[in-house]
Amino acid sequence: RTVYVNGEYLPEHQATVSVFDRGFLFADGVYEVTSVLGGKLIDFAGHAKRLERSLTELGMDMPMTEEDLLAIHRRLVDDNGIEDGLVYLQITRGAADRDFAYPAPDTPLTVVLFTQTKPGLADSPVAKKGIKVISIPDERWGRRDIKTVQLLYPSMGKMQAKAEGADDAWMIEDGHVTEGTSNNAYIVKDGTLITRHLGTEILHGITRAAVLRFAREAQMKVEERSFTLDEALAADEAFITSASTFVMPVVSIDGTDIGDGTPGPVAKRLREIYLDESRKAAV
Ligand code: PMP
Repeated sequence: RTVYVNGEYLPEHQATVSVFDRGFLFADGVYEVTSVLGGKLIDFAGHAKRLERSLTELGMDMPMTEEDLLAIHRRLVDDNGIEDGLVYLQITRGAADRDFAYPAPDTPLTVVLFTQTKPGLADSPVAKKGIKVISIPDERWGRRDIKTVQLLYPSMGKMQAKAEGADDAWMIEDGHVTEGTSNNAYIVKDGTLITRHLGTEILHGITRAAVLRFAREAQMKVEERSFTLDEALAADEAFITSASTFVMPVVSIDGTDIGDGTPGPVAKRLREIYLDESRKAAV
């Protein structure tokens, strides 16, 4: 596989980053994951915009124009023959002698991109069955709106879910669901779509923004507000969204079936609309 590192396209075994990189030592970096369907990027502009916001919040500047970033994405997709898959991008504050204080502002940022091939990403059999989630306390830091590479807690949550025979975890704060370990969380009750409002408590999902737009265009009733775990357990449907799973039905929470324990009609419909519309708009 060819990867991109600091201006160069290299075979993956030749690509290296310093042991002093602040991403490695301090998780001082941000990332994006953009999906690829039919060789084209889904919602690239949304991801580029959020990347810029994450960098700005941490006092870093976009190291290149959106156009140059798109060119790198496209070249990696082409060179690696990606039909369906993902492009991962990571930008860290660069390499400097270990110190909590940030290095001099002229320290070059570290920019890394690589692809992952996922044949049949959009017609995964998992979406037909739905996934099971468990609930865990949300013990992450308070700025979850910044897409940093500090993913240890979400990683622990996924491991716990797997150990308990589930697929993923929803995180709970003050009795309310914040989001999934790597996705936004939704319920449907009496025809109303409910998902947590934006704030510092959750990542502002690019897929979330698109799905809410499509739901409103389809005249669905949408409420952006927090909901409790009890509300979720009593919901008609539940689902998650993310760039890599699109719209994915959730059929059980903490061992309790949601609705009849199969993917619900709203989740199925939104998944179809999302995939159709995003493919049309892909670049
Ligand atoms: N929340 C969290 C915590 C995430 O890690 C992700 C995906 N990286 C999302 C939500 C979904 O965001 P997006 O739709 O932009 O992939």
